[in-house]
Amino acid sequence: MACLFCQIVKKQIPAQKVFESDIAIAIKDIQPKAPIHLLIIPKKHISSVSALREKDKTLVGELVLIAQKLARKLKVEKEGYRLIFNVGKNAGQTINHLHLHFLAGKKLSFA
Ligand code: AMP
Ligand code: ZN
Repeated sequence: MACLFCQIVKKQIPAQKVFESDIAIAIKDIQPKAPIHLLIIPKKHISSVSALREKDKTLVGELVLIAQKLARKLKVEKEGYRLIFNVGKNAGQTINHLHLHFLAGKKLSFA
């Protein structure tokens, strides 16, 4: 089955990329829920946090450190930002390829 984020990683589908390293990319969310809404996506296909293995430890840490770097680059480190992994149905996960949401640019509500 074709995975949207695998296709974006392979450049088969265009996206607004703001960062790329050997193991991950960051793109602008197509339906932003905040003035800044990025998705940090590992190049390797992992369906969700639930599918993570011990050997993926470093990769997950890398995603969070990319978020930290982006926050500095976008100058939102001081005002703050939110990182979210949606996992499964109740969290509203719609794309089954691990991704870390990066939200910033306004006071975010939390429910
Ligand atoms: P989630 O609900 O955690 O699975 O989040 C998936 C996110 O991917 C949503 O915020 C969508 O707006 C976003 N999205 C869906 N298709 C694209 C796309 N082609 N490019 C960028 N973001 C997308
Ligand atoms: Zn994938």
